Amino acid sequence: MPENVIRKKDALEYHENPIPGKIEVVPTKKTKTQRDLSLAYSPGVADPCTEIAENPEDVYKYTAKGNLVGVISNGTAVLGLGDIGPEASKPVMEGKGVLFKIFAGIDVFDIEINAKDPQKFIDAVKTLEPTFGGINLEDIKAPDCFEIETALKKEMNIPVMHDDQHGTAIISGAALINAAEIIKKDLKDLKVVVSGAGASAISCIKIFFELGVDPKNAIVCDSRGVIRSDREGLSGSKLELATDIDVHTLEEALVDADVFLGLSRGNLMTPEMLLSMAKDPIVFALANPTPEIDYQLAMDTRKDVMMATGRSDHPNQVNNVLGFPYIFRGALDVRATEINEEMKLACVRSIAALAKEPVPETVTQAYNVDRLVFGRSYFIPKPLDTRLLTTVAPAVAQAAMDTGVAKTEIDDMEAYKEELIR
Ligand code: NAP
Ligand code: MG
Repeated sequence: MPENVIRKKDALEYHENPIPGKIEVVPTKKTKTQRDLSLAYSPGVADPCTEIAENPEDVYKYTAKGNLVGVISNGTAVLGLGDIGPEASKPVMEGKGVLFKIFAGIDVFDIEINAKDPQKFIDAVKTLEPTFGGINLEDIKAPDCFEIETALKKEMNIPVMHDDQHGTAIISGAALINAAEIIKKDLKDLKVVVSGAGASAISCIKIFFELGVDPKNAIVCDSRGVIRSDREGLSGSKLELATDIDVHTLEEALVDADVFLGLSRGNLMTPEMLLSMAKDPIVFALANPTPEIDYQLAMDTRKDVMMATGRSDHPNQVNNVLGFPYIFRGALDVRATEINEEMKLACVRSIAALAKEPVPETVTQAYNVDRLVFGRSYFIPKPLDTRLLTTVAPAVAQAAMDTGVAKTEIDDMEAYKEELIR
Protein backbone atom coordinates (compact mmCIF):
# COMPACT_ATOMS: atom_id res chain seq x y z
CA MET A 1 0.00 0.00 0.00
CA PRO A 2 1.45 3.46 -0.92
CA GLU A 3 2.70 5.53 2.03
CA ASN A 4 0.11 8.28 1.49
CA VAL A 5 -2.91 5.97 1.84
CA ILE A 6 -4.10 6.39 5.43
CA ARG A 7 -6.09 3.51 6.87
CA LYS A 8 -8.59 4.07 9.68
CA LYS A 9 -6.84 1.48 11.84
CA ASP A 10 -3.49 3.27 11.50
CA ALA A 11 -4.99 6.68 12.22
CA LEU A 12 -6.69 5.44 15.39
CA GLU A 13 -3.57 3.60 16.53
CA TYR A 14 -1.48 6.74 15.95
CA HIS A 15 -3.81 8.81 18.10
CA GLU A 16 -4.21 6.26 20.89
CA ASN A 17 -0.67 5.01 21.50
CA PRO A 18 1.72 5.17 23.26
CA ILE A 19 -0.21 7.90 25.10
CA PRO A 20 -3.58 9.31 23.99
CA GLY A 21 -3.45 12.47 21.89
CA LYS A 22 -0.68 14.28 20.03
CA ILE A 23 0.68 17.00 22.30
CA GLU A 24 1.99 17.56 25.85
CA VAL A 25 3.23 20.40 28.06
CA VAL A 26 6.96 20.48 28.84
CA PRO A 27 8.65 22.79 31.43
CA THR A 28 11.31 25.12 29.98
CA LYS A 29 13.24 25.82 33.22
CA LYS A 30 15.39 23.70 35.50
CA THR A 31 13.28 21.68 37.96
CA LYS A 32 15.84 19.33 39.51
CA THR A 33 16.39 20.79 42.98
CA GLN A 34 14.32 22.15 45.86
CA ARG A 35 15.71 25.59 44.97
CA ASP A 36 14.52 25.22 41.35
CA LEU A 37 11.04 24.37 42.60
CA SER A 38 11.04 27.33 45.01
CA LEU A 39 11.85 29.55 42.03
CA ALA A 40 9.30 27.93 39.74
CA TYR A 41 6.52 28.08 42.29
CA SER A 42 6.16 29.54 45.78
CA PRO A 43 7.84 31.65 47.04
CA GLY A 44 9.89 32.67 43.95
CA VAL A 45 6.91 32.97 41.64
CA ALA A 46 5.51 35.89 43.67
CA ASP A 47 8.17 38.29 42.31
CA PRO A 48 7.19 38.08 38.64
CA CYS A 49 3.55 38.26 39.80
CA THR A 50 4.07 41.59 41.54
CA GLU A 51 6.13 42.93 38.61
CA ILE A 52 3.32 42.06 36.21
CA ALA A 53 0.71 43.53 38.57
CA GLU A 54 2.64 46.82 38.43
CA ASN A 55 3.30 46.65 34.69
CA PRO A 56 0.95 44.30 32.78
CA GLU A 57 3.21 44.28 29.67
CA ASP A 58 5.76 42.39 31.80
CA VAL A 59 3.53 39.32 31.32
CA TYR A 60 5.44 38.95 28.03
CA LYS A 61 8.75 39.09 29.92
CA TYR A 62 8.04 36.60 32.69
CA THR A 63 5.52 34.13 31.19
CA ALA A 64 5.04 32.11 28.03
CA LYS A 65 2.16 34.34 26.81
CA GLY A 66 4.21 35.81 23.95
CA ASN A 67 4.74 32.42 22.32
CA LEU A 68 1.36 30.92 23.12
CA VAL A 69 -1.55 30.75 20.68
CA GLY A 70 -5.06 29.56 21.53
CA VAL A 71 -6.49 27.29 18.83
CA ILE A 72 -10.17 27.65 19.58
CA SER A 73 -13.22 25.94 18.11
CA ASN A 74 -16.82 25.09 18.89
CA GLY A 75 -16.72 22.13 16.53
CA THR A 76 -19.47 23.38 14.19
CA ALA A 77 -17.59 22.95 10.86
CA VAL A 78 -14.84 20.42 11.43
CA LEU A 79 -12.78 19.58 8.31
CA GLY A 80 -15.40 18.40 5.82
CA LEU A 81 -17.20 16.50 8.60
CA GLY A 82 -19.63 19.25 9.57
CA ASP A 83 -21.06 20.01 13.00
CA ILE A 84 -19.60 17.11 14.98
CA GLY A 85 -19.28 18.97 18.28
CA PRO A 86 -16.43 20.28 20.43
CA GLU A 87 -15.09 16.95 21.75
CA ALA A 88 -14.91 15.48 18.25
CA SER A 89 -13.03 18.56 17.05
CA LYS A 90 -10.23 18.06 19.59
CA PRO A 91 -7.99 15.83 17.42
CA VAL A 92 -8.03 18.56 14.75
CA MET A 93 -7.18 21.31 17.24
CA GLU A 94 -4.36 19.21 18.72
CA GLY A 95 -3.14 18.60 15.18
CA LYS A 96 -3.11 22.32 14.50
CA GLY A 97 -1.05 22.70 17.67
CA VAL A 98 1.46 20.20 16.30
CA LEU A 99 1.76 22.18 13.04
CA PHE A 100 2.26 25.50 14.86
CA LYS A 101 5.03 23.92 16.90
CA ILE A 102 6.94 22.06 14.19
CA PHE A 103 6.79 24.81 11.57
CA ALA A 104 7.16 27.94 13.69
CA GLY A 105 8.08 26.91 17.25
CA ILE A 106 4.79 28.30 18.58
CA ASP A 107 3.12 26.63 21.57
CA VAL A 108 -0.61 26.03 21.48
CA PHE A 109 -3.34 25.37 24.00
CA ASP A 110 -6.23 23.84 22.11
CA ILE A 111 -9.54 25.02 23.52
CA GLU A 112 -12.84 23.39 22.57
CA ILE A 113 -15.79 25.43 23.73
CA ASN A 114 -19.25 24.02 24.24
CA ALA A 115 -21.13 27.02 22.79
CA LYS A 116 -22.91 27.05 19.45
CA ASP A 117 -24.44 30.44 20.14
CA PRO A 118 -22.05 33.01 18.58
CA GLN A 119 -22.44 35.52 21.42
CA LYS A 120 -21.72 32.89 24.09
CA PHE A 121 -18.65 31.81 22.13
CA ILE A 122 -17.48 35.41 21.72
CA ASP A 123 -17.89 36.08 25.45
CA ALA A 124 -15.92 32.96 26.37
CA VAL A 125 -13.01 33.68 24.02
CA LYS A 126 -12.82 37.33 25.03
CA THR A 127 -12.09 36.38 28.63
CA LEU A 128 -8.98 34.44 27.54
CA GLU A 129 -6.98 37.48 26.42
CA PRO A 130 -4.64 37.42 29.48
CA THR A 131 -3.49 33.88 28.62
CA PHE A 132 -2.61 34.10 24.95
CA GLY A 133 -0.35 36.03 22.59
CA GLY A 134 -2.79 35.30 19.77
CA ILE A 135 -5.99 33.46 18.89
CA ASN A 136 -6.44 31.11 15.93
CA LEU A 137 -10.16 30.48 15.46
CA GLU A 138 -10.80 27.14 13.79
CA ASP A 139 -13.57 25.14 12.17
CA ILE A 140 -16.51 27.39 13.03
CA LYS A 141 -19.44 27.31 10.62
CA ALA A 142 -20.43 30.11 8.26
CA PRO A 143 -22.01 32.61 8.70
CA ASP A 144 -21.37 32.48 12.49
CA CYS A 145 -17.61 32.59 11.85
CA PHE A 146 -17.89 36.05 10.26
CA GLU A 147 -19.76 37.52 13.23
CA ILE A 148 -17.44 35.82 15.73
CA GLU A 149 -14.19 36.91 14.09
CA THR A 150 -15.37 40.49 13.51
CA ALA A 151 -16.44 40.88 17.16
CA LEU A 152 -13.28 39.33 18.61
CA LYS A 153 -10.96 41.35 16.37
CA LYS A 154 -12.69 44.49 17.55
CA GLU A 155 -12.78 43.63 21.21
CA MET A 156 -9.39 41.95 21.72
CA ASN A 157 -6.00 43.60 21.72
CA ILE A 158 -4.08 40.52 20.52
CA PRO A 159 -4.04 39.03 17.00
CA VAL A 160 -7.19 37.05 16.15
CA MET A 161 -7.53 35.13 12.89
CA HIS A 162 -10.02 32.58 11.64
CA ASP A 163 -7.68 30.41 9.63
CA ASP A 164 -10.34 28.64 7.55
CA GLN A 165 -11.23 32.01 6.04
CA HIS A 166 -7.93 33.81 5.70
CA GLY A 167 -5.38 31.00 5.54
CA THR A 168 -6.91 29.63 2.37
CA ALA A 169 -7.35 33.12 0.94
CA ILE A 170 -3.69 33.99 1.50
CA ILE A 171 -2.33 30.89 -0.22
CA SER A 172 -4.86 31.13 -3.07
CA GLY A 173 -3.89 34.79 -3.51
CA ALA A 174 -0.21 33.86 -3.80
CA ALA A 175 -1.11 31.11 -6.27
CA LEU A 176 -3.18 33.54 -8.36
CA ILE A 177 -0.39 36.11 -8.61
CA ASN A 178 2.07 33.48 -9.81
CA ALA A 179 -0.30 31.63 -12.14
CA ALA A 180 -1.28 34.90 -13.83
CA GLU A 181 2.35 35.88 -14.18
CA ILE A 182 3.26 32.59 -15.85
CA ILE A 183 0.51 32.92 -18.46
CA LYS A 184 1.15 36.67 -18.80
CA LYS A 185 -2.32 37.86 -17.85
CA ASP A 186 -3.00 40.96 -15.79
CA LEU A 187 -5.04 40.48 -12.59
CA LYS A 188 -7.24 43.47 -13.39
CA ASP A 189 -8.38 41.84 -16.65
CA LEU A 190 -9.13 38.37 -15.25
CA LYS A 191 -12.68 37.11 -15.51
CA VAL A 192 -13.08 35.15 -12.27
CA VAL A 193 -15.77 32.60 -11.46
CA VAL A 194 -16.07 31.32 -7.91
CA SER A 195 -17.98 28.20 -6.88
CA GLY A 196 -18.87 28.49 -3.19
CA ALA A 197 -19.75 31.43 -1.01
CA GLY A 198 -18.88 30.02 2.40
CA ALA A 199 -16.21 30.74 4.99
CA SER A 200 -13.21 30.23 2.72
CA ALA A 201 -14.60 31.45 -0.61
CA ILE A 202 -15.72 34.86 0.66
CA SER A 203 -12.33 35.64 2.15
CA CYS A 204 -10.56 34.42 -1.02
CA ILE A 205 -12.59 36.70 -3.24
CA LYS A 206 -11.88 39.67 -0.99
CA ILE A 207 -8.15 39.05 -1.16
CA PHE A 208 -8.34 38.62 -4.96
CA PHE A 209 -9.93 42.10 -5.11
CA GLU A 210 -7.21 43.56 -2.87
CA LEU A 211 -4.61 42.05 -5.21
CA GLY A 212 -6.11 43.76 -8.25
CA VAL A 213 -8.97 41.61 -9.57
CA ASP A 214 -11.81 43.91 -10.67
CA PRO A 215 -15.03 43.14 -8.72
CA LYS A 216 -16.97 43.83 -11.92
CA ASN A 217 -15.25 40.79 -13.48
CA ALA A 218 -16.20 38.36 -10.69
CA ILE A 219 -19.15 35.99 -10.60
CA VAL A 220 -19.86 33.96 -7.47
CA CYS A 221 -22.06 30.84 -7.32
CA ASP A 222 -23.49 28.99 -4.35
CA SER A 223 -25.61 25.84 -4.17
CA ARG A 224 -28.49 27.72 -5.85
CA GLY A 225 -26.46 29.03 -8.81
CA VAL A 226 -25.09 32.47 -9.62
CA ILE A 227 -25.48 34.98 -6.80
CA ARG A 228 -27.36 37.72 -8.62
CA SER A 229 -28.50 41.02 -7.16
CA ASP A 230 -32.10 40.23 -8.12
CA ARG A 231 -32.12 37.01 -6.07
CA GLU A 232 -34.34 37.11 -3.01
CA GLY A 233 -33.24 36.52 0.58
CA LEU A 234 -29.50 37.05 0.12
CA SER A 235 -27.54 37.39 3.37
CA GLY A 236 -25.15 40.30 3.95
CA SER A 237 -21.93 38.59 2.91
CA LYS A 238 -23.51 37.20 -0.28
CA LEU A 239 -25.30 40.43 -1.17
CA GLU A 240 -21.94 42.22 -1.33
CA LEU A 241 -20.77 39.77 -4.00
CA ALA A 242 -23.91 39.73 -6.14
CA THR A 243 -23.55 40.37 -9.86
CA ASP A 244 -25.78 42.00 -12.49
CA ILE A 245 -24.16 40.08 -15.35
CA ASP A 246 -26.80 38.07 -17.21
CA VAL A 247 -25.78 34.53 -16.23
CA HIS A 248 -27.60 32.14 -13.93
CA THR A 249 -25.59 28.92 -13.74
CA LEU A 250 -21.97 27.94 -13.13
CA GLU A 251 -21.92 26.49 -16.63
CA GLU A 252 -22.98 29.80 -18.21
CA ALA A 253 -20.63 31.78 -16.00
CA LEU A 254 -17.59 29.74 -17.01
CA VAL A 255 -17.78 30.50 -20.73
CA ASP A 256 -14.59 32.46 -21.56
CA ALA A 257 -13.67 32.78 -17.87
CA ASP A 258 -9.94 33.09 -17.06
CA VAL A 259 -10.16 31.75 -13.51
CA PHE A 260 -12.23 29.11 -11.73
CA LEU A 261 -11.92 29.12 -7.94
CA GLY A 262 -13.70 26.19 -6.31
CA LEU A 263 -14.38 26.12 -2.59
CA SER A 264 -17.62 24.21 -2.69
CA ARG A 265 -18.07 20.49 -3.44
CA GLY A 266 -16.35 17.75 -5.36
CA ASN A 267 -16.93 16.95 -9.05
CA LEU A 268 -19.02 20.05 -9.90
CA MET A 269 -17.00 20.96 -12.96
CA THR A 270 -17.36 18.90 -16.12
CA PRO A 271 -14.74 18.61 -18.90
CA GLU A 272 -17.15 20.58 -21.12
CA MET A 273 -17.17 23.46 -18.64
CA LEU A 274 -13.37 23.44 -18.53
CA LEU A 275 -13.20 23.41 -22.34
CA SER A 276 -15.48 26.48 -22.47
CA MET A 277 -13.01 28.59 -20.46
CA ALA A 278 -10.51 31.05 -22.00
CA LYS A 279 -6.96 30.11 -23.10
CA ASP A 280 -4.61 29.05 -20.27
CA PRO A 281 -7.45 28.69 -17.75
CA ILE A 282 -6.50 29.00 -14.08
CA VAL A 283 -8.36 26.29 -12.15
CA PHE A 284 -8.07 26.17 -8.39
CA ALA A 285 -10.29 23.20 -7.48
CA LEU A 286 -9.89 23.33 -3.73
CA ALA A 287 -12.80 21.29 -2.34
CA ASN A 288 -11.35 18.61 -0.07
CA PRO A 289 -10.87 15.70 -0.30
CA THR A 290 -12.54 15.58 -3.75
CA PRO A 291 -11.78 18.62 -5.94
CA GLU A 292 -14.44 20.31 -8.10
CA ILE A 293 -12.72 18.61 -11.03
CA ASP A 294 -10.29 15.73 -10.69
CA TYR A 295 -6.68 16.75 -11.32
CA GLN A 296 -6.00 14.07 -13.94
CA LEU A 297 -9.31 14.63 -15.70
CA ALA A 298 -8.54 18.35 -15.98
CA MET A 299 -5.03 17.71 -17.31
CA ASP A 300 -6.37 15.17 -19.82
CA THR A 301 -9.10 17.58 -20.90
CA ARG A 302 -6.77 20.42 -21.84
CA LYS A 303 -3.03 20.84 -21.78
CA ASP A 304 -3.02 24.58 -21.10
CA VAL A 305 -4.75 24.42 -17.68
CA MET A 306 -3.00 26.06 -14.70
CA MET A 307 -4.15 23.77 -11.93
CA ALA A 308 -4.02 23.80 -8.14
CA THR A 309 -5.91 21.61 -5.67
CA GLY A 310 -6.08 21.16 -1.90
CA ARG A 311 -4.42 17.76 -2.17
CA SER A 312 -0.84 16.80 -1.38
CA ASP A 313 -0.72 14.11 -4.08
CA HIS A 314 -0.84 16.63 -6.96
CA PRO A 315 1.35 19.61 -7.88
CA ASN A 316 0.45 23.07 -6.52
CA GLN A 317 -1.25 22.20 -3.25
CA VAL A 318 -3.09 25.12 -1.66
CA ASN A 319 -2.37 24.28 1.95
CA ASN A 320 -2.97 26.67 4.87
CA VAL A 321 0.15 25.42 6.59
CA LEU A 322 2.15 27.66 4.22
CA GLY A 323 0.62 30.63 6.01
CA PHE A 324 -0.72 30.40 9.55
CA PRO A 325 2.44 29.32 11.42
CA TYR A 326 4.44 32.20 9.94
CA ILE A 327 1.72 34.84 10.17
CA PHE A 328 1.45 34.17 13.89
CA ARG A 329 5.27 33.92 14.26
CA GLY A 330 5.70 37.39 12.73
CA ALA A 331 2.73 38.85 14.64
CA LEU A 332 3.88 37.44 18.01
CA ASP A 333 7.47 38.57 17.54
CA VAL A 334 6.46 42.24 17.31
CA ARG A 335 3.55 41.84 19.76
CA ALA A 336 1.13 42.95 17.08
CA THR A 337 -2.25 44.02 18.42
CA GLU A 338 -4.00 42.55 15.39
CA ILE A 339 -3.49 40.78 12.07
CA ASN A 340 -4.44 43.45 9.54
CA GLU A 341 -4.89 43.36 5.77
CA GLU A 342 -1.37 44.65 5.12
CA MET A 343 0.07 41.80 7.18
CA LYS A 344 -1.98 39.27 5.20
CA LEU A 345 -0.92 40.84 1.90
CA ALA A 346 2.73 40.79 2.99
CA CYS A 347 2.24 37.09 3.63
CA VAL A 348 0.66 36.60 0.17
CA ARG A 349 3.48 38.42 -1.60
CA SER A 350 6.29 36.72 0.29
CA ILE A 351 4.86 33.25 -0.38
CA ALA A 352 4.44 34.14 -4.08
CA ALA A 353 8.01 35.46 -4.27
CA LEU A 354 9.46 32.38 -2.58
CA ALA A 355 8.07 30.11 -5.32
CA LYS A 356 10.27 31.98 -7.82
CA GLU A 357 13.51 31.37 -5.92
CA PRO A 358 15.75 28.43 -6.83
CA VAL A 359 14.66 25.43 -4.74
CA PRO A 360 17.37 23.93 -2.50
CA GLU A 361 18.13 20.22 -2.46
CA THR A 362 16.75 19.79 1.06
CA VAL A 363 13.30 20.56 -0.35
CA THR A 364 13.50 18.41 -3.49
CA GLN A 365 14.80 15.54 -1.35
CA ALA A 366 11.89 15.92 1.10
CA TYR A 367 9.53 15.36 -1.84
CA ASN A 368 11.67 12.78 -3.58
CA VAL A 369 11.81 14.73 -6.87
CA ASP A 370 14.79 15.78 -9.01
CA ARG A 371 13.89 19.39 -9.56
CA LEU A 372 11.28 21.98 -8.72
CA VAL A 373 11.33 24.92 -11.11
CA PHE A 374 8.91 27.87 -11.13
CA GLY A 375 6.31 27.14 -13.80
CA ARG A 376 2.97 25.45 -14.47
CA SER A 377 3.53 22.53 -12.14
CA TYR A 378 5.28 24.52 -9.40
CA PHE A 379 3.89 27.97 -8.63
CA ILE A 380 3.23 27.52 -4.90
CA PRO A 381 6.05 26.70 -2.42
CA LYS A 382 6.04 23.27 -0.79
CA PRO A 383 4.94 22.99 2.87
CA LEU A 384 8.25 21.40 3.95
CA ASP A 385 10.29 24.32 2.56
CA THR A 386 12.06 25.63 5.67
CA ARG A 387 12.69 28.97 3.96
CA LEU A 388 9.02 29.84 4.58
CA LEU A 389 9.85 30.61 8.20
CA THR A 390 12.67 33.04 7.39
CA THR A 391 10.78 34.61 4.46
CA VAL A 392 7.18 34.94 5.57
CA ALA A 393 7.49 35.69 9.31
CA PRO A 394 9.84 38.68 8.77
CA ALA A 395 7.59 40.04 6.00
CA VAL A 396 4.56 39.86 8.30
CA ALA A 397 6.48 41.43 11.23
CA GLN A 398 7.70 44.24 8.95
CA ALA A 399 4.16 44.93 7.73
CA ALA A 400 2.94 45.08 11.35
CA MET A 401 5.66 47.62 12.17
CA ASP A 402 4.95 49.65 9.02
CA THR A 403 1.25 49.87 9.82
CA GLY A 404 1.71 50.85 13.45
CA VAL A 405 0.21 47.77 15.11
CA ALA A 406 3.50 46.44 16.54
CA LYS A 407 4.07 47.01 20.26
CA THR A 408 7.76 46.14 19.91
CA GLU A 409 10.10 46.70 16.98
CA ILE A 410 12.64 44.41 15.35
CA ASP A 411 15.69 46.63 14.77
CA ASP A 412 17.85 44.16 12.91
CA MET A 413 15.84 42.01 10.48
CA GLU A 414 18.86 39.98 9.40
CA ALA A 415 19.65 39.06 13.02
CA TYR A 416 15.96 38.20 13.50
CA LYS A 417 16.06 35.79 10.54
CA GLU A 418 19.16 34.13 12.02
CA GLU A 419 17.36 33.74 15.35
CA LEU A 420 14.38 32.13 13.64
CA ILE A 421 16.40 29.20 12.37
CA ARG A 422 18.08 28.57 15.69
P1 NAP B 1 -18.76 26.26 3.71
O1 NAP B 1 -18.59 27.48 4.54
O2 NAP B 1 -19.68 25.20 4.15
O3 NAP B 1 -19.16 26.72 2.22
C1 NAP B 1 -19.48 25.83 1.22
C2 NAP B 1 -20.04 26.62 0.07
O4 NAP B 1 -20.20 25.75 -1.05
C3 NAP B 1 -21.41 27.22 0.37
O5 NAP B 1 -21.47 28.56 -0.07
C4 NAP B 1 -22.36 26.34 -0.46
O6 NAP B 1 -23.51 27.00 -0.93
C5 NAP B 1 -21.45 26.00 -1.62
N1 NAP B 1 -21.96 24.86 -2.38
C6 NAP B 1 -22.40 23.66 -1.91
N2 NAP B 1 -22.83 22.90 -2.93
C7 NAP B 1 -22.64 23.64 -4.06
C8 NAP B 1 -22.92 23.43 -5.42
N3 NAP B 1 -23.47 22.28 -5.83
N4 NAP B 1 -22.59 24.43 -6.31
C9 NAP B 1 -22.03 25.56 -5.90
N5 NAP B 1 -21.79 25.83 -4.61
C10 NAP B 1 -22.08 24.88 -3.72
O7 NAP B 1 -17.37 25.52 3.51
P2 NAP B 1 -15.87 26.07 3.42
O8 NAP B 1 -15.23 25.96 4.75
O9 NAP B 1 -15.85 27.38 2.73
O10 NAP B 1 -15.22 24.93 2.51
C11 NAP B 1 -15.69 24.65 1.22
C12 NAP B 1 -14.85 23.57 0.57
O11 NAP B 1 -13.53 24.03 0.39
C13 NAP B 1 -14.71 22.26 1.38
O12 NAP B 1 -14.64 21.19 0.48
C14 NAP B 1 -13.37 22.42 2.06
O13 NAP B 1 -12.77 21.18 2.34
C15 NAP B 1 -12.59 23.17 1.02
N6 NAP B 1 -11.50 23.96 1.56
C16 NAP B 1 -10.26 23.73 1.07
C17 NAP B 1 -9.19 24.47 1.52
C18 NAP B 1 -7.83 24.25 0.96
O14 NAP B 1 -6.89 24.85 1.38
N7 NAP B 1 -7.66 23.41 -0.02
C19 NAP B 1 -9.39 25.41 2.51
C20 NAP B 1 -10.68 25.64 3.01
C21 NAP B 1 -11.74 24.91 2.51
P3 NAP B 1 -24.66 27.58 0.05
O15 NAP B 1 -24.07 28.87 0.59
O16 NAP B 1 -25.80 27.82 -0.88
O17 NAP B 1 -24.90 26.55 1.09
MG1 MG C 1 -9.88 24.26 9.57
